[in-house]
Amino acid sequence: MTNPTHHFRIDVDEAVRLIAENMPAYATEAVPLERARGAILRGPVVAERDQPPFDRVTMDGIAIRAAALTAGRRSFRVGGIQGAGEAAIPLGTEDVCVEIMTGAILPEDADTIVPVERIEHDGDHVTLEPGYEPTPGQFIHRRGTDLAAGQPLFDVGTVIGAPEMAALTIAGSPTVTVARWPKISVISTGDELVDVGTPVELFQIRSSNDRAIMASLENRGCTTATRAWLPDDPDALRKAIREMHDRDDMLVLSGGVSMGKYDYVPQIMEELGVRLVFHKILQKPGLPMWFGVSAQQKPVFALPGNPVSSLVCLVRYVVPAIRTALGAATQEPHPVRLAEAVRFEPNLACFMPVRLAADAAGDLRAWPKATNTSGDFVGLAGTDGFVELPRGRDLFAAGEAVQFFRW
Ligand code: AMP
Ligand code: MG
Repeated sequence: MTNPTHHFRIDVDEAVRLIAENMPAYATEAVPLERARGAILRGPVVAERDQPPFDRVTMDGIAIRAAALTAGRRSFRVGGIQGAGEAAIPLGTEDVCVEIMTGAILPEDADTIVPVERIEHDGDHVTLEPGYEPTPGQFIHRRGTDLAAGQPLFDVGTVIGAPEMAALTIAGSPTVTVARWPKISVISTGDELVDVGTPVELFQIRSSNDRAIMASLENRGCTTATRAWLPDDPDALRKAIREMHDRDDMLVLSGGVSMGKYDYVPQIMEELGVRLVFHKILQKPGLPMWFGVSAQQKPVFALPGNPVSSLVCLVRYVVPAIRTALGAATQEPHPVRLAEAVRFEPNLACFMPVRLAADAAGDLRAWPKATNTSGDFVGLAGTDGFVELPRGRDLFAAGEAVQFFRW
């Protein structure tokens, strides 16, 4: 805590800026598609083939030539049956049709599909429904009309979600080049903490921060975090934090950063040579947040121990910092309108838990759900995230647009 240059009691925006300045660059790796959800694209992804790769039939029915209709033909001999995944069966002559299924390749000498609902079978012939006039070229998804072979599918920085996962298969590769998630130690500190599944005394607390932090990281596709617990004991903290620092790329601690006698985290960090960048942000919850960088340029986030504070600080600072460092082209927060007015102390920024739901007109609104102190994580259940109400004002009106962060 003797670092004379560190920042103290700063604004939210300054904290975001100082963290961004101190984040390292993360490597690029090829991952199997199974592990790519939420990953951030680093390399080009180009279509292996035209998309669709052939003239694709979009209805079960018969394939014919429109010229036969123009010549007055309504009845066709069935020359063959062709399913999806089978090589094309040519018609040969105009009096012939091929029974064809959705997803099949269109025979080269056919150009129109008549749906199965519009034909009648009579032995080895089919006849069009009286009065039905097919549009020449109908029910064919033409080759290359979605994307030409060799064209890029996405920009670098794209976050891979469900639709991107489908589109990635067009590249034909079982792997994709993405930014490598940092390995993160999620460390709970506190003598009172007990994990689920073991007996707990009256005066002890089930450790919950680490569970919420892991879930929030996993929501983004980050599966490189591991949980650990440490007591309020300087020797144990020093030894274990050093080991985890050497093993992983980032430390996310919770607890032990306030003014209590057993809040050893800042002191231990100093002993370990972690340079303090800032301590305390003008915000509620989460005022005691601590951030530093080790000599190996590894970020160390020490979040306040209160469960609401730790999750808010993770989502407001740690998650966006990682996503930006990985090269995400888009940031997560987006504006949303408050459903109700909120009053708050003007000297602190407020992070207000909200539930997102549409109002009677169908417009999405953020419904504030204040918790019963920052220890009340039970009150967070059922909320979608929080909104940020900037410092300097004490009233935020119903209908006002504010930034929403998802848990
Ligand atoms: P601290 O920041 O260590 O003073 O902790 C503040 C409050 O948060 C105390 O009531 C702690 O018991 C609680 N707390 C700290 N860590 C956790 C955790 N991992 N899970 C649940 N509560 C915690
Ligand atoms: Mg503690």
